[in-house]
Amino acid sequence: MLAHTKSEAAFTAAQTLMPGGVNSPVRSYGRVHCNPPFIASAKGCTITDIDGNTYIDYVGSWGPMIAGHAHPRVVKALQEAATRGTSYGAPTLLESELANLVKEIYPSIERLRMVNSGTEATMSALRVARGFTGRDKIIKFQGCYHGHADSLLVSAGSGAATFGQPDSPGVTRATAEDTITLPYNDTKAFNRLMDGFGNDIAAVIVEPVAGNMGCVPPVPGFLEALRSQTAAHGAILIFDEVMCGFRTDLHGAQAYYGITPDLTCLGKIIGGGLPAAAYGGKAYLMDCVSPAGPIYQAGTLSGNPLAVTAGLETLRIITEDPDYTVRVTAQTKKLCDGLRTAAAAAGVPVCIHQSGSMFSVFFTPGEVRDFAMANACDQEAFATYFQAMLEAGIYLPPSQFETCFLSGEHDDQAIEITLSAAKNAFAAVAK
Ligand code: PLP
Repeated sequence: MLAHTKSEAAFTAAQTLMPGGVNSPVRSYGRVHCNPPFIASAKGCTITDIDGNTYIDYVGSWGPMIAGHAHPRVVKALQEAATRGTSYGAPTLLESELANLVKEIYPSIERLRMVNSGTEATMSALRVARGFTGRDKIIKFQGCYHGHADSLLVSAGSGAATFGQPDSPGVTRATAEDTITLPYNDTKAFNRLMDGFGNDIAAVIVEPVAGNMGCVPPVPGFLEALRSQTAAHGAILIFDEVMCGFRTDLHGAQAYYGITPDLTCLGKIIGGGLPAAAYGGKAYLMDCVSPAGPIYQAGTLSGNPLAVTAGLETLRIITEDPDYTVRVTAQTKKLCDGLRTAAAAAGVPVCIHQSGSMFSVFFTPGEVRDFAMANACDQEAFATYFQAMLEAGIYLPPSQFETCFLSGEHDDQAIEITLSAAKNAFAAVAK
C-alpha cells in the first residue's frame, strides 16, 4: 500500500480552510471514495505527492500540460521573464507574438482577446454574440461544460428543448431561462429547435469534441448542422476549444472536422500551465469589443507577461516540430488499444473514446454519445478501477466524467507501466 499519511493530514487541515478542502471541486475525489494526494512537484509525465509517491500523470493539470511538466524550455523562459517584472498592465510585444502564433494555428481567428480563464473566454464570447445579434437566448448541450459563468451553469431536461432551470443555487431563474439545453449529438432535436426558434438565438456554444462528460466525439452531421443552422438564422456559432484545442488536432477540432465557427474559445494549453485563455474569431465580431467597439470586456492581468510567456513557449514546442501532436496522438492510440485489450481479457465491458491526445474509459457495454449515456455508465466500476490505478502509481482524473490527457513526455515505458497496472485494475473490477 502506498503511504498517504501526510496527504491525509493535509486534507483534514485544508477542509477547515477551503470549501471541501480544495480550490476546484473535482480535486476533492468525491466520486471515487478516497482522499486526494497533495502534490509537491511534477516533471515530464510524472507527478509526486508530499508523501514521496510518484505517479504517471494523465490529468496534466486538466489539459494544459501537453509539453509535460516543468519542460526545461518553459521553465527557462519563465525564469527570464520573471526578472523583467511580473505584470505591467500595458501592451507588450509578447502578446502580439502569441496572437500571431494563435492566428497561424487557427486561421478562423482573425482577432483575439486574451483573458485569464476558460470561464472568462466563454462568458465574453457569449457577450459578443448577444451584443452583436441583439438577441438574448443561447443554446448549449447537456454534458458540455463551459466554465462556471451563470448562464452556462445550466443543463435542463432531456429530449426536446426546455427552458433551463438553474443547475446551481445562485444562478437566477431569469438567467437560466435564456439558456436552452439540448442533448449533445442530437442533430434532429437541434434542427427542430432552430427551425422553430432560430431567429431568437444569439449563439450556439458547443465543445466540438466534448471532454466534460468524459471524451465524447461528435457524430457525423452534428457539427455540420450547427454550422448550417446558425448561418441560416444569423446566430453566432461558438466552438469552445478550451479543452480539445491543440489536442484533437494541432489546429483544433475545427480543422479536424472541417467546420469553421464564428468565434473560438481557447484556454488550458494556450497558458502553458499558467492562467491564460483567449476568445477570438471573425474580425467584424471581435471589432465590437471595447475599445474598438461598444461591448465591454477587460482584465487587470489579461495578457500577463508570465502567462503569455508560458503559453508562447508551449505553443512553440508543439508547433516547431510538425510531428509533435501527431506523436502524442499515436501514443494515446497505443494506450487506448492496450486498454481495450486488457479490459476484454478481464471480461470488463468498456467503451473507450479517443480524440487526439485525449481519451476516456467508460464502464459500459454500450456506446456513449451523450450525457445520458455517460451517466448510465457504471460509476462504482470506475471507482474500483481508479483506486487500483492510483495504488499502482497511475494518476487519473477522479471521475468518469473527466478526460485523460497525454503529453509529449508519455513515452513507451510510461505506456507499458500504465497497461500493466490496468490489467490488474480491470481484474479488480471483474471480481
Ligand atoms: N470550457 C471547457 C471546454 C473546459 O473544459 C473548461 C474547464 O475545464 C472551461 C471552459 C473553463 O475553463 P477554466 O476552468 O479555465 O475557467
